[in-house]
Amino acid sequence: MSFDFKGKTVGVTGAAGISGIGFAIAKKFLESGAKVFLCDLKEQALQEAQKELSPLGEVKTYVMDVSKADSVRDVFAQAKKELGYIDIFVNNAGIYPQAFVCDMEEELWDAVMNVNLKSIFLCARECSRYMKEKGGVILNAASYASLLGSAGSGAYAASKAAVYSLTKTLAAELAPYRIRVNGYIPGVIKTGMTAGVIRSKGEELVDAIALHRLGKPEDVANAAAFLASLEASYLTGTFIEISGGKLCVQNPDFPWKQE
Ligand code: NAD
Repeated sequence: MSFDFKGKTVGVTGAAGISGIGFAIAKKFLESGAKVFLCDLKEQALQEAQKELSPLGEVKTYVMDVSKADSVRDVFAQAKKELGYIDIFVNNAGIYPQAFVCDMEEELWDAVMNVNLKSIFLCARECSRYMKEKGGVILNAASYASLLGSAGSGAYAASKAAVYSLTKTLAAELAPYRIRVNGYIPGVIKTGMTAGVIRSKGEELVDAIALHRLGKPEDVANAAAFLASLEASYLTGTFIEISGGKLCVQNPDFPWKQE
């Protein structure tokens, strides 16, 4: 499906890594005619991403720590000044540390909550200021772990379960301003974040997926573009799962193993 985002300005957090979901989302919006700003902690990676994406359209980059109110506030003000009205904002940045809950340091727990969850509060608060005039769209990165929990990354799962809940509340609170708030639930997508787990459990992961392949960042970008599009104008407070049918039945590998 092709989309038309001409005249729109889109911000994406966690968008610096060329192999990541945020970069693919930014690329999809650019290809569909939008102006895009990429936000990330990593300055050099942002520059490389900008170089890669610039041939497709207008791209700005801002160093932003999504977990810090001042940083978020400054970037929104700067983006508004340089790019105009902010129409769409994608809260995509996240971290996924591996640790059993009861073995975790408090600092790591706080970092997960701040980057994955508090960031959504901070950015939505700025969006509510900058999108009130003409409405807009906010998209939040949830996770399959929002629904199921995850042994070995419980803080991550708890933060993403809260993202699920917060998305629904924001959808209701911002509806009077014509701001739609939705989320996407990636299953297992091949990015830097999942490289380790794919290396150690590749085959097992694929067996849990009905379509029997891992996801690509572009699979998520297509869903994000749909959620932000006019075609989705009656969707708010909802999620698209992009998982290839992960655990849609107890035994998704069974049909693949028949003679
Ligand atoms: P990734 O690690 O490739 O990218 C995450 C990006 O977030 C990086 O560029 C990183 O620099 C940035 N970031 C981290 N902390 C930040 C901070 N404090 N401020 C600003 N930027 C920060 O990850 P990805 O796989 O592309 O995941 C994108 C989103 O999708 C995440 O929220 C992740 O939890 C979610 N998700 C991914 C998968 C998957 O299979 N890859 C599955 C479920 C959910």
